[in-house]
Amino acid sequence: MPEPPDHRSLRARAEERLREGPEQVEHPAPEEAQRLIHELRVHQIELELQNKELRQTEQELAVAHDRYLDLYEYAPVGYLTLSRDGRILQANLTCERLLGCDRSALARQSFSRFVTSDAQDNYHFFFQRLQHANEPQTVELRMTRADDTPFWARLDASTQAAASEQETAYRMTLTDVTRVHELQEMEQRMLYTVAHDLRTPATIIKGYLPFLLELLPEGEIAEEGRPIVEAVRRALRRMDMMVNDLTEATYLQSGRLVIETRPVELGPYLREMLKQSAGVLDTSRINVKLPTDLPAVSADPERLERILVNLLLNAQKYSPPDTPICIGARRRDGEVMVSVRDQGQGISEEDQPHIFELFFRAARGRKADGIGLGLYITSRLVEAHGGRIWVESEVGKGSTFYFTLKVAE
Ligand code: ADP
Repeated sequence: MPEPPDHRSLRARAEERLREGPEQVEHPAPEEAQRLIHELRVHQIELELQNKELRQTEQELAVAHDRYLDLYEYAPVGYLTLSRDGRILQANLTCERLLGCDRSALARQSFSRFVTSDAQDNYHFFFQRLQHANEPQTVELRMTRADDTPFWARLDASTQAAASEQETAYRMTLTDVTRVHELQEMEQRMLYTVAHDLRTPATIIKGYLPFLLELLPEGEIAEEGRPIVEAVRRALRRMDMMVNDLTEATYLQSGRLVIETRPVELGPYLREMLKQSAGVLDTSRINVKLPTDLPAVSADPERLERILVNLLLNAQKYSPPDTPICIGARRRDGEVMVSVRDQGQGISEEDQPHIFELFFRAARGRKADGIGLGLYITSRLVEAHGGRIWVESEVGKGSTFYFTLKVAE
């Protein structure tokens, strides 16, 4: 165990050692010589003490250095410091390994050099947010190592405190998330295959049902058979909707969604949409209240229908059949905020943050048909339009879903 530090002066400690020591001068020299010898011995002991302290500090430094190496250099994630203009100032060993080149080659290089060309916009947007938003930023994007092998990276960055704007730098961690992405892709492929494989037998059953009905002999059996066939038909329709949702969700996850927007006047659009959806929606419960001066929105009409039908179907599904459902809209800056309000069971505060997640179903809603895909699809479609979606809800009173769309130019 290291000795506790002795804060008395080196001189005082050396004097004490000399007094304690066994050696004494045998033949006392003249007074001056004796004083010199004393001085010399004190210095000698001072040096010995200093030497010992130095060795101890050296050992402590070595331990601290090893700890630093372990923590910084060999951390399971890459650590980097970036300059104001995105150049690499410092990088740890893990970073060298991840980017496939040593530090001397990394120094002063623009980090964007390692980002694939199709992810450049995404990276620049992330770096801009980091510069201006004043809070930590995260992004996942494709990168390439120095030898051109690609990998998926997650970047988490924050601003490092600096005395002046000139000295501003950013701390960033770089994590290889290729495996996570591979698993996600596998999951997507699996869902896609399941959805497609389910579609074929469902189509066959749907096609043969009328023939089955015709094969039933006239009379009582036919009358008994008819409701059974109807029930099968209804079940098939539900299955069809679920399979469609599954296909759509996997498609949206893959990021291949392209939307084609055009100016849409919500008033006439909603009237027509509700007329067309009368078979699916209970339109007698739906009231539309729009301000007369509402501007046209920029939307993909087909996708907008999906968004609205999903929200209306949920409103219908999770509220008593005799309660109204209201569609509203109002202008807010450059956006139009659309709302769908019901007077149903509501969503608890703890469930609210999760309802837009894939396959999430709140405990109180499980009795109703569904697989927890509708709101996931809806939120992805709203985001693809550049809008936001959220909910305000109170258990036992009802829910209002809001989403925004840009005003058409
Ligand atoms: P699904 O309806 O198939 O379960 P959704 O993704 O459409 O899936 O909705 C997720 C969950 O959010 C539902 O299971 C339900 O618990 C809750 N939810 C959605 N809309 C409403 C609503 N209008 N009122 C109450 N709960 C709702």
